[in-house]
Amino acid sequence: MTDPVAPKNLILGLETGGTKVLCAVGAVGDPTAEVARWSTSTRSPQRVLADIAEFLAPLAGAIRGVGIAAFGPLDLDCSSSNYGAITTSPKTGWDGFALLAAVQDLLPGVPCLITTDVAGAAYGEAQRGALRGARDLAYVTIGTGVGLGLLQRGELMVGTGWPEAAHIPVQRHPDDAFAGVCRFHGDCLEGLASGPAIAARNLELQQTGVLRSAKQDLDVTAFYIAQLIATLYYCFGSERVVLGGGVMKTSGLIETIRWELAKRVGPPGSRGSSRSLSVELTALDGEAGLVGALLLAGEAAEQTHRTESLHAPLPFGAR
Ligand SMILES: [Zn+2]
Repeated sequence: MTDPVAPKNLILGLETGGTKVLCAVGAVGDPTAEVARWSTSTRSPQRVLADIAEFLAPLAGAIRGVGIAAFGPLDLDCSSSNYGAITTSPKTGWDGFALLAAVQDLLPGVPCLITTDVAGAAYGEAQRGALRGARDLAYVTIGTGVGLGLLQRGELMVGTGWPEAAHIPVQRHPDDAFAGVCRFHGDCLEGLASGPAIAARNLELQQTGVLRSAKQDLDVTAFYIAQLIATLYYCFGSERVVLGGGVMKTSGLIETIRWELAKRVGPPGSRGSSRSLSVELTALDGEAGLVGALLLAGEAAEQTHRTESLHAPLPFGAR
């Protein structure tokens, strides 16, 4: 019997996160049918690359495409000499690290597509998760920071950078006097609604003896997140928005966001569109980025014979 996953027809998906790096091997033609998975902690890039090389050793010559969903900030300008490199990072050794080039050194001649971790997650959700079937859609992660992956007509919006939705200014909740934690702006969206912001606000309230109910906490957080979703809806016509990240595991938050959003984009006539808007929780949870990376790897493998076109600004940065 023929092995359906011939060893010469494999793809590699990589997701680099703040604490760990995930590697998964799938098959050309069926990228998310994983045949192997492995992870390592995010240490220096040299050590991580050495671990990846060890993982790939038994698969030498079998990988036909690579997809990378990487933490940023990442240089995704195809005309840049630093294309595919981490630009600035507080992580030891990662500042300026040429990630794409290092992976390509491990697998010479193998086509590779690269995008941000949140864009990879958006693509994973769009193809295999809670965004399936929608055309204009968004994936928002709310955790240590706030990240946005945006697809229009099914294609990721990636120019020379990525959407910086984390830092949009937001209207203040009338009961919230917290200064915010963003090191650039203080009280932007990320400064008021990220995980660290919520923790710092709660500590401040505790220290000043202010008692607030869980319902009031939900109202404040939802007030800010709903503003981002309304902005996506008004600016891009996003018809489905999927929310992930640690903050969204808070019980009752998704319902409160929907309630807040209904006030902001309704009633009909105030929307500027007759299209509906739905807000859902992630279907792939922590898997979305890796699924997206595997799908990119599958596309990279399919494009093997038209490598030159990969230099064009496709929906994903590619080389
Ligand atoms: Zn900010």
